Amino acid sequence: EEVQLCDLIQSVADRMKPAFEEENIIFTANCTDGGEVAFVDPERFQQILLNILDNAKKHSYESGEVFLEAAHTTGGIHITVSDEGEGIPEEDLPHIWDRLYRVEKSRSRESGGSGLGLAIAKEIVESHGGRIAIESEWGKGTQVRITLMRGGYVV
Ligand code: ATP
Ligand code: MG
Repeated sequence: EEVQLCDLIQSVADRMKPAFEEENIIFTANCTDGGEVAFVDPERFQQILLNILDNAKKHSYESGEVFLEAAHTTGGIHITVSDEGEGIPEEDLPHIWDRLYRVEKSRSRESGGSGLGLAIAKEIVESHGGRIAIESEWGKGTQVRITLMRGGYVV
């Protein structure tokens, strides 16, 4: 199905806004419109982004900022979610893609979660020939970046 990148970002942002407000986290979504169209399943991509934003929310501190940004380059589409939350210890980073893996030190233990979100996101993104990567620093924050290459599922 044809999906307009900025429409997808907008609908995800609209859905998450109240949840961030409730926790006093400053949430900003930004999409630079290049009329990008991707041939992806909108439901599944929404689900991925909702989970990544839910992660950002769970691990943020009060008054912290979360950004959802989408941009296009000649190479393709980049979707980035960044937070200023607790971050992920370096030794845990290689494992966060594993099913059921949850960071031991994480305070999110209290807020539940099954450890499936990122594993599913990786599967879906890679099945579209894309990439997903995380940069994080314990105590500083986390950035998740999805890249969909032009030519494949992106026109
Ligand atoms: P589920 O998504 O199934 O509800 P979950 O959120 O625990 O459960 P994942 O989304 O796969 O599972 O994330 C795996 C683990 O990676 C989390 O438990 C958490 O420890 C860590 N993590 C993910 N995103 C962040 C983030 N933005 N900041 C800090 N830690 C994170
Ligand atoms: Mg999650």
